[in-house]
Amino acid sequence: QFPKRIALLGSTGSIGRQTLDIVRSFPDLFEVVALAARSNVQLLAEQVQEFRPSLVACLADTPEVERQACELLPGVVLGEQGLLAVATLAEADVLVTATSGLMGLRPTLAAINAGKSIALANKETLVMAGHIVMEAARQNNVSIVPVDSEHSALWQCLHGERTEDIRKLILTASGGPFRTASLEEIQAVTVEQALAHPTWRMGQKITIDSATLMNKALEVIEAHWLFDIPYEQIEVVIQPESIVHSMVEFQDGSIKMQASLPTMHLPILHALSYPLRPNTADKGLIRELSWPQVAQLHFEELALERFPCFCLAVEAGRRGGSYPAALVGADEEAVALFLEGRIDFPGIARVIEQVLERHDPIAQPDVATTLEVCDWARKMALDLCTQKLV
Ligand code: NDP
Ligand code: MG
Repeated sequence: QFPKRIALLGSTGSIGRQTLDIVRSFPDLFEVVALAARSNVQLLAEQVQEFRPSLVACLADTPEVERQACELLPGVVLGEQGLLAVATLAEADVLVTATSGLMGLRPTLAAINAGKSIALANKETLVMAGHIVMEAARQNNVSIVPVDSEHSALWQCLHGERTEDIRKLILTASGGPFRTASLEEIQAVTVEQALAHPTWRMGQKITIDSATLMNKALEVIEAHWLFDIPYEQIEVVIQPESIVHSMVEFQDGSIKMQASLPTMHLPILHALSYPLRPNTADKGLIRELSWPQVAQLHFEELALERFPCFCLAVEAGRRGGSYPAALVGADEEAVALFLEGRIDFPGIARVIEQVLERHDPIAQPDVATTLEVCDWARKMALDLCTQKLV
């Protein structure tokens, strides 16, 4: 089973670079066979130099990136075709989906249908198409292993347990930078403040989603699909230090929790090395948790009135059908509009609410319909903003 041959989508991003840190630290366990990114050709070329994959892809969303990619990356496969080629490469054992946003869905499904196991970071994929992705995984008998830290924690707590013995999944949330802010303060939040996460360093989209707690709602939906647990049995609790990554309460009253200092290196390693637990002590990636840190842990209830995005999103998840796809599209555009300074921070929730209100739901959307709904929601969000209706 080892060395495991890894295909990596989104290698230039936060998760992608940390995945390569893990490969670099455990050369006996892992080998990179394919890399894909969107626009950071310079870094992708450095990664190719170092890891020598047999396939390189670049989405290249502008002619300038395309020109640069052809110059710096001999043999590069461009466009969505490239992402699909990376996802289905014959010699790969596992696909790490670490792209941000909507682009992960088709390649992930292609990889599942090609019999690859999936280490999934891109939560939007499961949120918008959980019914399709999980069914495809069942049919192809492949595992979808979580990279997201909360889901990795739940998965670790569930090793060796039976689904019917679960009473509750309890996801932890740091609460983001505005956990203790007043409603007035939240009205006036700047982009810079929203990007300053107290405990995690991540890509921009997920950092803004963490400030609105949209991220936590997406994780509730992700957990629902990944572990096949009804929404009524999923709770969220604030854990400001981001040391307890999530918990499972069992029917006998026992609670298991997984703890470690906040770093994505650990959940990435666990997703790739399971069932092994390789020694990280001398790798310089994962610091040890000390008892004084454990003694200072806090848990708080989530103040729902401060986080309208959380409530809107969980409701969209519960409604199911095409609502989560509309949610993902609306959020993607709303976050982009906020980052461009075109709407204020509370505007993110207003945009999403209005898009969801205008959505005509479809009960069991297929892949094409799911992506169409996402696209519709993005355009609707943009229109609402351009026409100053939010
Ligand atoms: P980043 O924005 O840091 O990186 C995104 C990566 O995806 C980059 O390599 C980028 O390429 C690439 N990319 C973006 N759009 C496309 C596209 N359309 N086609 C191909 N490649 C694309 O994101 P993160 O690493 O922070 O997050 C990745 C995913 O993991 C997200 O879904 C996020 O929710 C999830 N996640 C992230 C965590 C974190 O700690 N960062 C924690 C848990 C989950 P390029 O840079 O070359 O343009
Ligand atoms: Mg998370």
